[in-house]
Amino acid sequence: MGFADQSISPKVLKREINIQQVFAYFDIEIDENSKCLCPFHEDKNPSMLVNSEFAYCFACGRGWDVFDFLKEYLQIEFNDTLFWLNTNKESLPDVKIKSRRRGEYRGPVSSELVQYWHSCLTHEHRMILHEKRLLTDAFIDEWLLGWRPDWNAFSIPFWSGVPQKSEIDIVQFRLTEESPEFITKYTHDSKFIGLPGHNRPSLIGTHSLKDWGLLVFGTFDALLAIQDGFPCVSPNGASVFSTKKTKPRLIELLKDVKRLYVIYDATESERSSAQKTVKDLSCDVVEREFVKHTDYGEYRLYHDPEEFMTEILKWGLL
Ligand SMILES: [Zn+2]
Repeated sequence: MGFADQSISPKVLKREINIQQVFAYFDIEIDENSKCLCPFHEDKNPSMLVNSEFAYCFACGRGWDVFDFLKEYLQIEFNDTLFWLNTNKESLPDVKIKSRRRGEYRGPVSSELVQYWHSCLTHEHRMILHEKRLLTDAFIDEWLLGWRPDWNAFSIPFWSGVPQKSEIDIVQFRLTEESPEFITKYTHDSKFIGLPGHNRPSLIGTHSLKDWGLLVFGTFDALLAIQDGFPCVSPNGASVFSTKKTKPRLIELLKDVKRLYVIYDATESERSSAQKTVKDLSCDVVEREFVKHTDYGEYRLYHDPEEFMTEILKWGLL
């Protein structure tokens, strides 16, 4: 994998990363005696001693450096531990701070990361995207949709312009049944999570917008609508643009749009966030909801894009 070659070497990683930060990342609490419950066996009294570069368990009679620890804890190969550390080193918690802090946005996501995750997408993952999301291989490859192995999640890059010809503003991960608990516990029942340090309110699909566009609330719904040829965007969360602080960025992203067709989800809670999102936009906003269908993806399982076009034409002339 090209990414590993260009990234920081194991030696430097080992010097820069305190293994206690990795423990903190996984919420393994180290007490004032530098001991913690060993994660590798049933442990009632802390048997594991952790210093800045090494962990040793008196019960197991074994020791781990940061690489050994990640290998065993995440059940991954050595090369994947390098990848994991390179990916997460910026967002590892400071060991002096007990709780995790929301990081400031540290800029676009490296395209090597997105390429790497794209290369991890197996035939089975593609089948899910084909069958459940109606996305084609050509579209998946154009957008570099991928699979993040340590989170068992789909990765969806939010390109700031044309896919592969622009920066990656953020990456959104769609968690699955197989996603590990250390990730799912941060998502508060949401199936989506961002990349720590590289997450902020964002829209997917902005390059597809014309002087009109669709605003849907659902990343995969937006991707399908774009594949179908519609100008369409979706935010990385129903409420991310609903505040005074984030609204100016939405207005900037939609500055060339004269008319926006907003497609609400069937769920009431999401609708109020959506209404707050479209409030105070300078363009002409046409709001509708599908009566019999929950979202665009669901609609498309039983209808073709032409029918959808006919449907929105009824809402108001383009
Ligand atoms: Zn142990």
